[in-house]
Amino acid sequence: MTLRQGREVLTIPGPTNIPDEVLNAMHRPAIEIYSGDLLGVTERLLNDLRTVFRTKGRTYIYTANGHGAWEAAISNMLSKGDKVLVLESGRFAVGWGEMAAVQGAQTEVLEATPRRAVDPAAVEARLRADTEHEIKAIMVVQIDTASGIVNDIPAIRKAIDAAGHPALFMVDGMASIGCMPFEMDDWGVDVAMVGSQKGLMSPPGLGLLAAGPKAMEAHKTADLRTHYWDWTAREGEQHYEKYCGTPPEHLLFALCKSMDMLFEEGLEQAWERHRKLAGAVHAAVSVWGKEGAMEMNISDPAERAPSVTPVIFADGVDPAELLKWCNEQCGVVVGSGIGDLSKHAIRIAHMGYVNAPMLLGSLGVLEMGMQALDIPHGKGGAQAAIDFLAGTFKE
Ligand SMILES: *Cc1c(COP(=O)(O)O)cnc(C)c1O
Repeated sequence: MTLRQGREVLTIPGPTNIPDEVLNAMHRPAIEIYSGDLLGVTERLLNDLRTVFRTKGRTYIYTANGHGAWEAAISNMLSKGDKVLVLESGRFAVGWGEMAAVQGAQTEVLEATPRRAVDPAAVEARLRADTEHEIKAIMVVQIDTASGIVNDIPAIRKAIDAAGHPALFMVDGMASIGCMPFEMDDWGVDVAMVGSQKGLMSPPGLGLLAAGPKAMEAHKTADLRTHYWDWTAREGEQHYEKYCGTPPEHLLFALCKSMDMLFEEGLEQAWERHRKLAGAVHAAVSVWGKEGAMEMNISDPAERAPSVTPVIFADGVDPAELLKWCNEQCGVVVGSGIGDLSKHAIRIAHMGYVNAPMLLGSLGVLEMGMQALDIPHGKGGAQAAIDFLAGTFKE
């Protein structure tokens, strides 16, 4: 006998919970792809993406996941042997850099203190030392979904400018766009990308990318270009050229609905919701950690991501057992650790389509699981989350 009959709650950092309205938007026949309604759908989404990325630049929709959008940025902007500086802050920027290396770029990782955000001063120092301007591009993630770090993108931009360096600024917004402020044009970001399945509340399968004028300029001479990803090919006259083939129609219908929902809530409101829910998670984990068996991976509150909170466990506690219990007994699917944190951590997501009862439910179940499994923890984490959220209504 379990307590799991009811709606399952996904508390993993992607894919995230998909609203029923978004699921229902896909329940319709396929339509034709050369003319008619689909042309309006594409135009509308390319514009909506400008709103979400906060850019006047070009936007592109790929039938791909986030890794596809990474490859699109690399192939459209870089040439064989170009040097790329990868700013380490967990797993994801390094993974993107590895992909660039496979495609033919030369990558250098700016190694960093583990569990800390990228240090803009270190970026500035490295760029100042590059007097010949050999570094062609800088890669960084806004939120690293493995470590739970949030990097200060405008501060890194300032560091690049302070060094007077012309490198392209490439930013992965996969786990942050829709969840926290992102200002592509104001922050001087040259290319950015997001997947459909995280903050944007849609099914996995779309890699969404925005490119600014410097990226388009680099594109003209980039020799890693391949036809599927190619921005120029996607500017063709025919509608299907925008997708280099059959458009992923049903995912587009879904994304239209998610965009409606996001804009109805208001992008800024969505950011604020994430900020508050993250605060509730931090409050809960701080209380649980009082018995010494667990702590947040990121200790500086200012560097904690508003969309995901990795929690590391002391030796002797197996987080996999807790995850299994939450899922099998209560229907709450909490994320496991990845990269260096696999086997030692859980990741509590608060990303996308999630409200207070969903989050409080997940936190309550985690606390119940710790008690049921005799995992040492401070009592009252869920209460601390309630107290925190109640307090936000008095702000
Ligand atoms: C999820 C994620 C990716 C990869 O996206 P996929 O859709 O799984 O390919 C890349 N970067 C970050 C920061 C992510 O969170």
